[in-house]
Amino acid sequence: MEFEKEIKIKVDSLEEIEERVKSSGGILVSDCFEKNYLFDRNDELFHRGEALRLRSFCDKAKLTFKGKRVKSRDYKIREEIETHVSDFDAMAEILKRLGFKESFYYEKRRKNYRLGECLISLDNTPLGKFVEIEASEEIIDAVASMLGFSKKDYITKSYVEMAIELGIKRLCFQCGD
Ligand code: CA
Repeated sequence: MEFEKEIKIKVDSLEEIEERVKSSGGILVSDCFEKNYLFDRNDELFHRGEALRLRSFCDKAKLTFKGKRVKSRDYKIREEIETHVSDFDAMAEILKRLGFKESFYYEKRRKNYRLGECLISLDNTPLGKFVEIEASEEIIDAVASMLGFSKKDYITKSYVEMAIELGIKRLCFQCGD
């Protein structure tokens, strides 16, 4: 099983962080506007703590299953099964035919940097700016500290959870509703 281990940190500015990531040897691997759609069947996955996400980004698409969280105070750890999808619309239609409906929508602008074993995402979201660090626990701590942060800054919530807490159903920059 593949597990995703990550944390987020809310920041005022991403530029400063990006400079530090670059000067530490971080390599820009992608810079995309993302549209993310969660699919569910009568909240079945939501109640199990799981999620099915179809993401469209830079003319590509990915389908991701996220398992229930593994108990951890400081880190967000979830099983993750992911595959590229060549046709976003076809995949969305298959999910709909299987009885899944779009249950949540969120967008963000994400720049991904690779720094050794670590993936650093610089996220501009309708909820603000965040740095996401994905790696082993030890590397997360080392990279966070290199960027000037510590465990007390770690956020283990997903953007969807943050939005639900705020009573927001769609996370977009210009939803118009
Ligand atoms: Ca991640």
